[in-house]
Amino acid sequence: MALIDDILATNENFCANLPEEYKAYEHEDHHDSKIPKKKLAILACMDTRTTLFLEPAMGIKRGDAKVIKTVGNCVTGFFDTAVKSLMVAIYELGVMEIAVIGHEECGMQKTTSESLTKAMLARGISPDAIKMVEKELKEWADGFKDPEQNVRDVVKLLKEDPLIPKDVKVHGLLFHPRSGKLKLVSKDE
Ligand SMILES: [Zn+2]
Repeated sequence: MALIDDILATNENFCANLPEEYKAYEHEDHHDSKIPKKKLAILACMDTRTTLFLEPAMGIKRGDAKVIKTVGNCVTGFFDTAVKSLMVAIYELGVMEIAVIGHEECGMQKTTSESLTKAMLARGISPDAIKMVEKELKEWADGFKDPEQNVRDVVKLLKEDPLIPKDVKVHGLLFHPRSGKLKLVSKDE
């Protein structure tokens, strides 16, 4: 069975027997149910080990927070896609605190513009298309050296972002994807 068919079959069964723990919003369809209860947005890496692990490790439950995931929890500019998500989280949904959460053993440490370029060429991507993003590719992929430093860089960028209001706190944290330990990198008082 193709993966997507398996997913759809699983979903049909899931919805037909919706577990009790997921019934909180079953009949609720008003704006308030979309407001994160903790007024928190989490910007984390897409690492597979953090799925269903990071939130419970933080005591975050369904409905508590907006969770945005980008590779390496990277933000590369003041109007980056992650910033667009944060803008909606802040201005439409009342978020007052942002937690930038990197993690140990992040795959971005080993990802370089060279490794990506090689793989893209091997998959038939045209050199012209790669040339189009060459500068950004280098700045982003080669700029990621250390997950903790990256958290500091992203926190700094968000604090300086003119699109984010000054009363929104931006904290930095580092997660261990195997032990579940959270280390405080920087706390916004
Ligand atoms: Zn990662």
